[in-house]
Amino acid sequence: MMIVVMEKNASIQNISSVLQIVEECGFTPHVSKGEERTVIGVMGDERGLITEKVQTLKGVEKVIPTSKPYKLVSREWKQENTVINVRGVAIGGSTLTLIAGPCSVENEEQILEIAATVKEAGCHILRGGAFKPRTSPYSFQGLGEQGLELLALAREKTGLPVITEVVNPNQVELVAQYADILQIGARNSQNFALLQEVGKINKPVMLKRGMMSNLEEYLMCAEYIMANGNYDVILCERGIRTFETYTRNTMDISAIPLIKQLSHLPVFADPSHATGKRSLVPPVAKAAVAAGADGLMIEVHHHPENALSDGAQAILPNELYKLVRDIRALSDAIRR
Ligand code: PEP
Ligand code: MN
Repeated sequence: MMIVVMEKNASIQNISSVLQIVEECGFTPHVSKGEERTVIGVMGDERGLITEKVQTLKGVEKVIPTSKPYKLVSREWKQENTVINVRGVAIGGSTLTLIAGPCSVENEEQILEIAATVKEAGCHILRGGAFKPRTSPYSFQGLGEQGLELLALAREKTGLPVITEVVNPNQVELVAQYADILQIGARNSQNFALLQEVGKINKPVMLKRGMMSNLEEYLMCAEYIMANGNYDVILCERGIRTFETYTRNTMDISAIPLIKQLSHLPVFADPSHATGKRSLVPPVAKAAVAAGADGLMIEVHHHPENALSDGAQAILPNELYKLVRDIRALSDAIRR
């Protein structure tokens, strides 16, 4: 397998002669047309001959051999960190981006109250689920489109961009009409039809790590999105299944620096779903930042005892204020 990176000004003819050679040699080309340039993934085992042939073609900037199954996601393909801009908020690179909000949008008063707190605390993006992937069909499933409207209202009032989950390939377009970032949840991390759909839109996607995905499987999920043309992918470690039962999941801290070695994509951490316990959210959030996370996603609620989902892991407003202060100090200390 190899990656053919075309020059910025490569012509359609340049591209088709690469495709022709690749096909003649019996390989399958995967064309990905980015905003700036076209990249062609070449699937197959034998490298030597075809690499030489392609390298000399007009319009080819470089040919990168890779043994990894993910290509567009890899640092081999793109060395610089990907930085995504969402309504003026930078994600990735040298900034630390904080996302906070309730697990679910419950009603207008609740989301507006929390949104004001999230803004006041100095966080950058508001989260809130409208379509909830619940373990039980009897649990609150989210407000649906009404929840999206309330998120848009909260954005209007606070200026905060909003992120919300999409669970159904048929609803990608609808969610994209309201959300600034679309979230793919852990349970849908390997829902390839959904990944393909969000790969076709031009809004950033946050892809949570599946609770049973190893890192290679996880990065392949991101590859699905990028292979469909959407390069604005944000990764998020949110804990994986282990034998431990005292926490909801087990935060895989080492995944954060490891993914950053393997990939150019921004890596977030979600200490709320990773631990499932309010008291563990601040320390694990700090650990994730210390490990190099580009941002955090944190659940917060004014009345967690009445929350319609994930109350046990929601921190209180005053805890959010303190956590943001601590994180600022920590990130200054480690990032200089
Ligand atoms: C969420 O962020 O609301 C959520 C359901 O998270 P996860 O998919 O990581 O469980
Ligand atoms: Mn939740």
